[in-house]
Amino acid sequence: MASMEGLIGLMNRIQRACTALGDHGGGSDLPTLWESLPTIAVVGGQSSGKSSVLESIVGTDFLPRGSGIVTRRPLVLQLHQTENGSQEYAEFLHKPKTRFSDFALVRQEIADETDRLTGKTKQISPVPIHLSIYSPKVVNLTLIDLPGLTKVAVEGQSESIVEDIENMVRSYVDKPNCIILAISPANQDIATSDAIKLSKEVDPTGERTFGVLTKLDLMDKGTNALDVLEGRAYRLQNPWVGIVNRSQADINRKVDMISAREKEREYFETSPDYAHLASRMGSEYLAKLLSQHLESVIKARIPSITATINKTIDELESELDIIGKGVAADPGAQLYTILDLCRAFDRVFKEHLDGGRSGGDRIYGVFDHKLPAAFKKLPFDRYLSVQNVKKVVSEADGYQPHLIAPEQGYRRLIEKGITYFRGPAEATVDAVHVVLKDLVRKSIGETEQLRRFPTLQAAIATAANEALERFREDGRSTALRLVDMEAAYVTVEFFRKLPQDPAADPSSKVGTKPPVEPSPDRYGDGHFRNIASNVSQYIRIVGDELLQKIPKAAVHCQVREAKRSLLNHFYVQIGKKEGGEFGHMLDEDPAMMERRQQCLKRLELYKSARGEVDSVAWSSSR
Ligand code: GDP
Ligand code: MG
Repeated sequence: MASMEGLIGLMNRIQRACTALGDHGGGSDLPTLWESLPTIAVVGGQSSGKSSVLESIVGTDFLPRGSGIVTRRPLVLQLHQTENGSQEYAEFLHKPKTRFSDFALVRQEIADETDRLTGKTKQISPVPIHLSIYSPKVVNLTLIDLPGLTKVAVEGQSESIVEDIENMVRSYVDKPNCIILAISPANQDIATSDAIKLSKEVDPTGERTFGVLTKLDLMDKGTNALDVLEGRAYRLQNPWVGIVNRSQADINRKVDMISAREKEREYFETSPDYAHLASRMGSEYLAKLLSQHLESVIKARIPSITATINKTIDELESELDIIGKGVAADPGAQLYTILDLCRAFDRVFKEHLDGGRSGGDRIYGVFDHKLPAAFKKLPFDRYLSVQNVKKVVSEADGYQPHLIAPEQGYRRLIEKGITYFRGPAEATVDAVHVVLKDLVRKSIGETEQLRRFPTLQAAIATAANEALERFREDGRSTALRLVDMEAAYVTVEFFRKLPQDPAADPSSKVGTKPPVEPSPDRYGDGHFRNIASNVSQYIRIVGDELLQKIPKAAVHCQVREAKRSLLNHFYVQIGKKEGGEFGHMLDEDPAMMERRQQCLKRLELYKSARGEVDSVAWSSSR
């Protein structure tokens, strides 16, 4: 038996811990333990007798009463049975050191605490008030009193109040761990019961609903509620319990709880209608029934609660690993952290280039597609048109036309032609730069340890981009130099292989070009076409060479340097900083700090809950 009370005591302690640590279930994306605990919620229309039922289960008058919506915040009521003869008292979680032995003051405190959140309006709030009652007269139970369901808003209430209340009540009772105490007055048709309507909705099988029928004494003479109580009118998995609470007249006359219970027992025992059910009717029986049910539910749930707790502890711990601990105060440790974070970023960045993470392949794409495509688009056709060749050659000849081969003309055509490669060379370097810059941005985002340090993120981004800018400069001048080198010195080999005078040797064929027509006139179109063809071939050879070499320049100056020394400059800068500046670089994202705090708190809750569950599981398994 001790172990059963232990079970309920355990749930009570976990519930208190949940509230103390801000876990009311839902409302945030943190895991919640609250929602895996079994609870009993009292649901019913206004004035259906909820307060009265709660009070008679507890055996004490303590709930605020009045017409209209009195209960405007959920009341989580934990009953703790104490030793016979001990003093009865109540304690609020929001006032942990105050023991209330005057229950009129408890009633006042509930009202005040309600107003504290909602003001003296008729608004409602979903934040529960926690009240513990220690008494020899109660059984260990946790009950939640909810605002009564209404049908219409009254003066001073917003139009949405009916819906607001229903939604709040539903948010409690639609959890599968909630046992529903559905209160309906016997002097109303059960078909119109708000409590039954809502419970049917959230618990269609009725397995976690207990039907309670109040006001049996107020039924019209000659009628009885046997149809309901015997489960014929509306069938639930659990038996219906009929109740006779104190009437308003009893309350006014200050009839105490003990005589009220006596009267209730007497009512059932002497009633011609209900005598045969007397042992299964009344507030005391209801309390026992609930307690037993709760125990079996808790017992059944312990394995799954333990599993939830363990899983959540793992999840919270790994999230905290990523968020990291708070920043150390001394500059040495801070510098260490900064360097560590830089290295973490650098690792991610390198993974992008070396594979493992995507992105590095885009650089190869530049070399394999963009560069050759840009070369293909160069306007050599126009440049080497007969007309232009003629123009360039005659300009180079000057006042005296060339005799055999236009040496100067060839050189000028080649030199100028090669400069066309400068554009694609530069564009290649720029394209590689864009990819690298994008990878820096991506890598910063993907370095999880960096996530909470926006200032350091920005500093690393700036430093990395400055470094990339320098690498681009170097890449550009190297690539352009490769092009310029080709223009500066023409490989003589190619021209040696050409026939000396194509005009005099009509059978000559070079490469795949069609035979050049012998021209009677050295300065005719055929002659210049021939020159154009030779120059074009030479330029193509140079182009093929540059297609190989420009990527080498870009990789050498940009990619390899980015891998080797992206943050070197940054490290030097950091080395020159004063110790006091490190703290600023490690300024944390406030949202992240908040999140760490929340996770730590929740972790504490789960760990203490695990301790509690373990100890109870041990004692009840023996
Ligand atoms: P709540 O609004 O659901 O909390 O309902 P209360 O518990 O405040 O009850 C509303 C009124 O109905 C009070 O005046 C009670 O005295 C009265 N009442 C509740 N239950 C019974 C009952 O079983 N018999 C009689 N005669 N009156 C009852
Ligand atoms: Mg009430």
